[in-house]
Amino acid sequence: MKAILSWLLICGMMVTVGCASHAKKETQKVGGASTASETKKAEPTKTADGQIIQYVDTPTGRWMIHDENRPAPKVITPGTCSTQTEVGTAPSDAIVLFDGKDLSHWTHANGQPAKWTLGDGYMETVKGAGMLQSKESFGSCQLHVEFATPSTVSGSSQGRGNSGVFLMDYEVQVLDSYENKTYPDGQCAALYGRSVPLVNACRKPGEWQSYDIIFHRPIFKGKEVVRKPTFTVIHNGVLVQDHVELTGGTQWNGPHAISDFRPHPDKMPIQLQDHSNPVRFRNIWVRPLAD
Ligand code: MG
Repeated sequence: MKAILSWLLICGMMVTVGCASHAKKETQKVGGASTASETKKAEPTKTADGQIIQYVDTPTGRWMIHDENRPAPKVITPGTCSTQTEVGTAPSDAIVLFDGKDLSHWTHANGQPAKWTLGDGYMETVKGAGMLQSKESFGSCQLHVEFATPSTVSGSSQGRGNSGVFLMDYEVQVLDSYENKTYPDGQCAALYGRSVPLVNACRKPGEWQSYDIIFHRPIFKGKEVVRKPTFTVIHNGVLVQDHVELTGGTQWNGPHAISDFRPHPDKMPIQLQDHSNPVRFRNIWVRPLAD
C-alpha cells in the first residue's frame, strides 16, 4: 500500500480525503458491507412480464437497481494532470499490457488476434469485434488504465462512450458521464449495478482520463464466496470507490436487477469491453498484489 501511495504522490495525484470519509458511509451501505441496511432489505419482486426488480438501501433511501431517479453523485472538476499532454510511464516493477505500440498482450475470448484498431499511441474499440482480454491472467492487483470517450458526442445515457474495465467478473464502468444523465449505479466509475462513485470526476468527451484500481479478488469455496472482492478506484486522481466490498456480480440482469456471484478461477484475464461505442485506451499496466 505504501508503494501505491508513493506512486500516486509522485504523479501529483490528489486524493480527495474530505470526500473519502463521507464516502465510506455511503459505500458501506451501497456496497452492502453494512448489516443494518441489509436486515431491512426489500425482497426482489417480479413484474407481470417476469422481470426481476431488486432494491438497494442507501443513505438516500431505497432504490431499484439501475434507478434513474436515484440521486446522482456531485459533479466535480478533477485537478490537472499530465495525461492530456504526455503519456506517463509505468513503474519499473509493473507488467506493461499496452504501451501504445502493439496489441501483442491482447486477444479475444476465442483466442483470435485482437481486432481493435491500433492508432497513434492508443487502441480503439471496434463495434462488434468483442471484448479484448489480456493474454496473461491476474488475481489481486493494482491496475492503471487510461481511456478517452469519443470527442464527438453521440447517443445518450448508456449509449454514450460505453466501455468497461473488467477485473475477473467485475466491471468498473467506462462511460461518457460528462453532462450525460443515466442511472447512477451505471455511470462512469461505478462498479456496475453495485456501487455509485463518490463523485463524478469525469473529464470532457475526447479528453484522456485515468483509472487507478486496487482490486482484491474474491475467494470461492465450491460455489460459495468465502471472501468478497474489494475495489478502490481513483478516477483522474480523485477517490471514487473507497475500499468497496461487492456483495455480488456486476452483470446486466434486466432493467432493474443485477447478477449474483459466479464462481471463477483465482486468476483471470483483464478485459476491456466492446459496447459498440468507439472508446480509446492507452498506458495500461498492472502490478500483481498479494491476496
Ligand atoms: Mg460498460
